[in-house]
Amino acid sequence: MKSLCQLPLLELRKKLGAKKLSPQELWAECQKAIAEKDGKIHAFLTHILQLQLPAEWQKTELKGIPFAVKDNLSTANLLTTAGSQILKGYRPPYTATVVERLQKAGGVILGKTNCDAFAFGASGENSGYGPTHNPYDLSRVPGGSSSGSAAAVAAGMAVFALGTDTGGSIRQPAAFCGVVGLKPTYGRCSRWGLIAMGSSFDVPGPLTRTVADAAFLLGLMAGYDKRDATSSQTPVENYLAALNGSSVRGLRVGLVEEFFQHGLQPEIKKAVMRVADVLANNGAKLVRVHLPHLEEALAVYYVLVPAEISSNMARYDGIRFGWQSKRGKTAAAVTAFSRAEGFEMEVKRRILTGTYVLSAGYYDAYYLQASRVRTLVIRDFQELFNKVDVLLGPTTPTTAFKLGEKTADPVAMYLSDIFTVPANVAGLPAISLPFGRDQKNLPIGVQLIGNRFQEGEILRVAHFLENYAC
Ligand code: GLN
Repeated sequence: MKSLCQLPLLELRKKLGAKKLSPQELWAECQKAIAEKDGKIHAFLTHILQLQLPAEWQKTELKGIPFAVKDNLSTANLLTTAGSQILKGYRPPYTATVVERLQKAGGVILGKTNCDAFAFGASGENSGYGPTHNPYDLSRVPGGSSSGSAAAVAAGMAVFALGTDTGGSIRQPAAFCGVVGLKPTYGRCSRWGLIAMGSSFDVPGPLTRTVADAAFLLGLMAGYDKRDATSSQTPVENYLAALNGSSVRGLRVGLVEEFFQHGLQPEIKKAVMRVADVLANNGAKLVRVHLPHLEEALAVYYVLVPAEISSNMARYDGIRFGWQSKRGKTAAAVTAFSRAEGFEMEVKRRILTGTYVLSAGYYDAYYLQASRVRTLVIRDFQELFNKVDVLLGPTTPTTAFKLGEKTADPVAMYLSDIFTVPANVAGLPAISLPFGRDQKNLPIGVQLIGNRFQEGEILRVAHFLENYAC
């Protein structure tokens, strides 16, 4: 029998509303699952034992449902390390808007989840607190950087989780762990309280068991926030209602040719083609399209994001937050030693790359040029969305790889982001949907990318496909 926290959020919400289940029982089930499984998986960095149920939880949308929060989302008075040693012991004075909105809606934080330090990574192995393991095969990575969030949902330790996606960090671990991962349009969900990585790319979003759960949560999280100047005033749709009576008749689905040329694992290609068949058999129109700058999108990402990182990391001075070195006699030396001791390898690599591409003499050749190419990628997508309603492709080139397989080769690790990064470069919404398994029984994720603020459309199509995803 399935444990309670393996049920979809909307089902649990119904049970709680009908008093067939109490939030205490549900909390206890999650605790039990964590006690049994997390020793091996290591999805949580901080885990809360005592349930603090909101007053009048019966009247709230989430009715006391427990959820896990990626550790780069600030939570007031609750440890927030962003997976890095440099923030060891840091307790922020405020809570990220998206977390606060879910708490106001009656959700209860179960814990903070492991992630690559500052969300720099695609495997979870860059965490300063040890890696998370994939619940489907403990010798494999869960994906990253929202590694603990994906693993916690997949292993039935949390009903849903929050992640952040700068270049794939919600969708890629969702694909590796067989859960749904939604990356909203840039600006759809407030970044306030999200520990910045690449500020013109970052966006928080949900990892869930079903598409309807993701739609429901997006409705609670999205919307303008005066504390984030880049959050959008575009009205928030009723995403859940958008799923009703979904048909794909007449839908124009773009198959990006370039998505099939990049060392794509054959079983993943098959899964994407199976999705295409399902859509075509139900009246959708398949259109072969091109994303001429796919490879450049990855290069652009790995120039612009480190540039933004190098600027964002400047605040970690060993004085204001977290770790402070015992070495060093002057303020400058304390900062230098704290950074040397507190930043993980990949954090240092990104700061160095970013500082290099921004430095005098190289700025024009790298940063400026990459910004221009970013505009080309945005235009590519604009043209595509004149021809099609959604784009279909794989989420990742391979299923979950082995722990340690790519750690010695950062470029190999970066290449695994090829299909997720373009949506971030252009700020578009995208979703990863589990769709079958490979021969090793590892989950496969397929990806739908939508036009700006068309979350309703990709959710609707993903919801339709869910029935065929075995
Ligand atoms: N894997 C990508 C990177 O390492 C994406 C990270 C993310 O989305 N936070 O930059």
